[in-house]
Amino acid sequence: MKASVYYSKNEIRFEEVPLPEIEGGDILLKMKSCGLCGTDIHKAQHQTVTGPVVLGHEVAAEVVKVGNRVTKFRPGDRVVTAIHVPCYSCHYCDRGHFTLCEQFKPTNIEPGGFAEYIRLPELHVKHLTHKIPEGVSWEKAAMVEPIGCCLHGLKQAVITPGCSVLVMGSGTIGLLSAQLAAMMGASNVIVSDLSPFKLDLALRLGINHAINPSSENLEARISDITEGLGVDVVVIAAGVSALLPQAIDMLRRGGRVVVFSPFDHNNMVTIDAGRFFRDEISVIGTYSLSSYEMPEAVEIIRTNRINVDDMITHTYPLSLLGEAIEFASDPHNDVLKVIMKMDE
Ligand SMILES: [Zn+2]
Ligand SMILES: [Zn+2]
Repeated sequence: MKASVYYSKNEIRFEEVPLPEIEGGDILLKMKSCGLCGTDIHKAQHQTVTGPVVLGHEVAAEVVKVGNRVTKFRPGDRVVTAIHVPCYSCHYCDRGHFTLCEQFKPTNIEPGGFAEYIRLPELHVKHLTHKIPEGVSWEKAAMVEPIGCCLHGLKQAVITPGCSVLVMGSGTIGLLSAQLAAMMGASNVIVSDLSPFKLDLALRLGINHAINPSSENLEARISDITEGLGVDVVVIAAGVSALLPQAIDMLRRGGRVVVFSPFDHNNMVTIDAGRFFRDEISVIGTYSLSSYEMPEAVEIIRTNRINVDDMITHTYPLSLLGEAIEFASDPHNDVLKVIMKMDE
């Protein structure tokens, strides 16, 4: 079979790789669509992984073969899945911190979503895999995993009806989070970004306010919109650590910042630490998703609770992953979500 294999920056080869073999509890999937995630782009461009490796984890695929112990799925089923499975019994899992489980990151799909076929190990089959509802396209189904990740973060932000939410960064994660916050009852959802294209798209998706900090004073606009109170929740969905002190400054008393971004460059920042005691603010970190968010994300897609279709701006064939990454990472391009399509 063929896969788009990452070797190093600017070197992704579309080449022949071994077809994975399955065991009793596994299933073999024929990939149909795989979303290009910000973390795939980040890994490829900042070389945070060592090649050769097949990236991709926003999987929508068809079951082609099942192990003899698999009863939940059969060939022909259309499914979505995610990549990491916790153990459900360690110190972290017992406390609900599934993404921090020691087993989480070492569990993986084989070889990765940017391939013609993938093996889903037994644990993935058991805990993370769900049928795609009828009528949902492959491209749209590939958005289930990122929706799950956003739900994971927003749950901790406690979005209550009528609250105000600012999302800094209007990429896929930002615009999904903004729409999900509105779905959860936030009545004032604001996004910020430097890209006029993304801000326009945000307004088309029904977001209440879209602010470009390069031409407007973000703090002043937030103060205006919230009548001087500050926002209840800020979600940081852009990889710039300097956004953290700014986010804290725009919070209302008792407000919460959710950080959903790796911040692995220049990550030291100075914040007004007095606000924790004085104003009871919180800063919450979030990463990935747990298996519990997957069925919720499937249901959101099935019932069209948010507009995902208009977020998918480009599709690329699997063989052009390198081009897709280059295109998606250039801030001058009018692009939001890129989905890799496997040839029929
Ligand atoms: Zn992702
Ligand atoms: Zn665990």
